[in-house]
Amino acid sequence: MAVDRNDLPTSENEWRVRLAPEEFRVLRQAGTERPWSGEYVETKTPGIYHCRACGVELFASDTKFDSHCGWPSFDQALPGAIRYVEDRSLGMVRTEVRCANCDSHLGHRFEGEGYTPRDMRYCINSVSLRLEPGEPA
Ligand SMILES: [Zn+2]
Repeated sequence: MAVDRNDLPTSENEWRVRLAPEEFRVLRQAGTERPWSGEYVETKTPGIYHCRACGVELFASDTKFDSHCGWPSFDQALPGAIRYVEDRSLGMVRTEVRCANCDSHLGHRFEGEGYTPRDMRYCINSVSLRLEPGEPA
């Protein structure tokens, strides 16, 4: 279920009530789940991955690939689903990936690693996603 932008929480306190503690820490405080701990790291089930916070569609299962990095990895996002933010934490410049609808933190995007022909890796926290099984769009 997608949540209308008007129904989104307007404060971090509202998010805190709506989300589980680990979801809140990752989605709203840009946390990172421990590698290999997430429920979707090795999932091959066909379907669409939705934003755990607001429910919009973010990634199709046919763009998911095995990166062996410990987090679910995709080489493409659904059109318009993502907002990109420069992240200069940890002494590096990385591209942070957020949900374009609710601005929740999803993970980071890396380029030029050569994993797939698209040469992109969206490294996403499982706890930021919810898989809806079915045929990919
Ligand atoms: Zn969202």
